[in-house]
Amino acid sequence: MEQVRVRFAPSPTGYLHIGGARTAIYNWLFAKKHNGTFILRIEDTDAERSTQDSIQGILDGLKWLGMEWDEGPYFQSANLNAHRQAAQLLLESGHAYKCFCTKEELEAKKEAAIASKQAYKYDRTCRNLSPEEIARKEQAGIPYVVRFKIPDMQESLIFNDLVYGPIERKYEDIEDFVILRSDGSPLYLLSNAVDDINDRITHVIRGQDGLANTPRQILIYKALGAKLPQFAHMPLTLDLQKRKISKRTHGEVVSVQFYREKGFLPWALVNFLALLGWHTSDDREIFSKQELIDAFSLEGVSRSNSIFNYTPGDAKFFTDPKAISINAHYIKTMPLNELEPWVNAVLKAADIFDETFLTTQKAWYYSTIDLIRQRFHTLNDFATLGAAYFSDNFPMDSKALQKNVLKHPQLTEWLPQLAERMERLDSWTLETTEKAVRDFIAERNIASGTLINAIRTVVTGQSVGPGLFECLVIIGKDRTTARLKNTPTLF
Ligand code: GLU
Repeated sequence: MEQVRVRFAPSPTGYLHIGGARTAIYNWLFAKKHNGTFILRIEDTDAERSTQDSIQGILDGLKWLGMEWDEGPYFQSANLNAHRQAAQLLLESGHAYKCFCTKEELEAKKEAAIASKQAYKYDRTCRNLSPEEIARKEQAGIPYVVRFKIPDMQESLIFNDLVYGPIERKYEDIEDFVILRSDGSPLYLLSNAVDDINDRITHVIRGQDGLANTPRQILIYKALGAKLPQFAHMPLTLDLQKRKISKRTHGEVVSVQFYREKGFLPWALVNFLALLGWHTSDDREIFSKQELIDAFSLEGVSRSNSIFNYTPGDAKFFTDPKAISINAHYIKTMPLNELEPWVNAVLKAADIFDETFLTTQKAWYYSTIDLIRQRFHTLNDFATLGAAYFSDNFPMDSKALQKNVLKHPQLTEWLPQLAERMERLDSWTLETTEKAVRDFIAERNIASGTLINAIRTVVTGQSVGPGLFECLVIIGKDRTTARLKNTPTLF
């Protein structure tokens, strides 16, 4: 195969959408797999809708995902001259023509077509103007657009999409489309094709919405004598109600930034998004970076719409449960030294990070992360559900407090008494802590569940977690007994 060159070409008109991110991921994977080049091209020619914030958001989002580009970012707006030159070449070679029809004339024809229930297509009025007529109109200062001349043929244009297979479009159904406006600015369809030619793109891997543009872009390629790339269009992503996923309907859950804020590991999101429209024959779900690069192929991309399993307002899952479970998988299994920096960042943001975690308390810090991560789904859980392990400033689950503590007023005496007994322990291990608690329960004839649940709630702020005595050992004697003694203040 020739040297692979692919590109991600977002229009910077909003945040980085997970659909766009998936396109970037597929391009990146394809480039990596074939030792090719992954190019980032920002398609910012729509000056009114493009914003600097959006460009920054796209760059940050891609970097966070680890989708580093080899070339670029190129900016389409810097290439306008090349687009105009291409239009000029097409004019000179007879593949395009100047159209002097006024807006009003075109509108009237469109309305007439609608009135007679005909599909409107430009009627090619200016396609065969004589050179004299053209010169006269130009001298008279009549503005013109440049239109592409669709070959006058009965046949169809056929191309093979690497995902959708053979696609056929009759020439007679394609309008002589505008490539240059009367102010000399190129239309997007032309800019996109010319940039792909100049960037020597070998595989155009993009969203399914690009499929409608492809026949006209192929004609531009051919008219310019350029080698055609291969095209591969990615399936749409719909929700369970078969709606296209969008910010309007689904909210922030469709933006990459949302996952970053929710405590996703970037690779977990990449892994999840890769599966949104692509799978291996054994439907495997977890892939390391190298495994995904090795396994990925455009042939594995499905033609049917992919399903994003999230319904707005779902109280149980904040996004597709599969995304959450993949993230949890990485949190649970990642080497601790790789997970540690992510945990540091989350604890720092919550203001419960202590520099000693990385110096004198490093072994303790790693054991703590390892103990509590087993039940976590996001990195943020370390700073919320896990706060009590790192700081005395931790949230108390109000339901747990209600059920496990406030219902039993005797705890205001029991827990401080237990604390005194535990303070006298010579060593602080699974065995000694458990024995102290069990003896206390036996002596006072307390229902063991009542005391155990109360200790957990008071010491960790949560009603569930790892084994109680493992928690106490990790949290340590001083903090455990102080929290137990503090019980009366919770009432
Ligand atoms: N700029 C287009 C978009 O954001 C991409 C088109 C393409 O990849 O060819 O939808």
